[in-house]
Amino acid sequence: MSKVYNPYDNMLEVLEKAAKMLGLEEREYAAVKYTERELKVAIPVEMDDGGIRVFEGYRVQHSSSRGPCKGGIRYHQDVNIDEVKALAAWMSFKCAVVNIPYGGGKGAVKVNPKELTKNELKNLTRRYTAMILPLIGPERDIPAPDVGTNAEIMGWIMDTYSIFKGYTVPGVVTGKPIEVGGSLGRREATGRGVMFITREILHRLGMPMIGTRVAVQGMGNVGGTAAKLLFNEGCKIVAVSDVSGGVYCKTGLDIDSILSFLGQNNGKVLKDYDIPGVKHITNDELLTVECDVLVPAALENQITERIAPEIKASVIVEGANGPTTVEADKILERNGKIIVPDILANAGGVVVSYFEWVQNIQSLMWDEEEVNRALEKIMIRSFNEVWDQKKEKNTTMRMGAYIVALDRIVKAKKIRGMFP
Ligand code: GLU
Repeated sequence: MSKVYNPYDNMLEVLEKAAKMLGLEEREYAAVKYTERELKVAIPVEMDDGGIRVFEGYRVQHSSSRGPCKGGIRYHQDVNIDEVKALAAWMSFKCAVVNIPYGGGKGAVKVNPKELTKNELKNLTRRYTAMILPLIGPERDIPAPDVGTNAEIMGWIMDTYSIFKGYTVPGVVTGKPIEVGGSLGRREATGRGVMFITREILHRLGMPMIGTRVAVQGMGNVGGTAAKLLFNEGCKIVAVSDVSGGVYCKTGLDIDSILSFLGQNNGKVLKDYDIPGVKHITNDELLTVECDVLVPAALENQITERIAPEIKASVIVEGANGPTTVEADKILERNGKIIVPDILANAGGVVVSYFEWVQNIQSLMWDEEEVNRALEKIMIRSFNEVWDQKKEKNTTMRMGAYIVALDRIVKAKKIRGMFP
């Protein structure tokens, strides 16, 4: 049986280390170790066959010290409260590292969305929204897409919230369809951010973009876009994978052909991608393939202490949230690997969510170039701030990012003071 990892404990271990490096007293960051609020809901749904199924859902708010809570909603059959708590805390750190005026939150429903019809999924989403309604709002807590959710689901959330309010409230959720207040560039934003960050780290390490060999785990919204944009920048994408397994080609894969194959919308997975010269590999093989940059862009706890010693890439850019366990992180550090942590590497999504929310509350619409330019500026600035901390404290990029983030959260708390 595979080992069970508690991602919240992982988060606490990293937090304690960052607090120590910042020289904080326990009283200054004690509250950051806890989530502010946790709501658990039971969501009854009438299924198309007339039966009733009850799904478990959550919304967790980790911190509102720097602004409204912000973070996605995950639909996945294996979610549990510790995972949602960790994801909420990572959102607080992520928003702080890129310095956007939000705290962190996260929601989830324990469901495999692929097993539901569209009608069932809509009913589930509407009922879930109604049940977390007291917690969310454009000034309070703003959901967004995450694993297993998409723009269409965000549109249903916006509609349900608006029906309850009696008027349209686009700013209650981000990642919406463009037609109902979504932002241009939001769908690609996380993958685009991963590309910018990969470019920056390669530049710092004196490595070229052209010809650099990249392996990407996960061909969803994040991994798929990152692979495509890195390919466009001249990287050689040697391996990609999805839930069904991976494909490898030493001389580089044709990403456009893979994406159009997967995008055929008839449940095609990489296992079915059969092209001469392309070898099928497992997900474990993908992580340990011969390459320069590894982009884990699937779920948590993929790089474990079992996999870590086998990793060949010299740079790891975390497109997913929490893909590396604490133990694996130590092994990779010992082996001299450079890891750009999730809270920086995948922050592009929430940055453009912030732009979407800003457009919504001002009733403005930016063009895509403006969005991408503003995203690039924030990603580069944040990368440099983290890099400087890494250098100054002679530590890892993960610690550098946590130091930048924790310092901002603790300062906000201090300025606001304790109530009562
Ligand atoms: N789910 C994404 C993340 O983990 C986006 C969150 C957001 O846009 O609020 O960063």
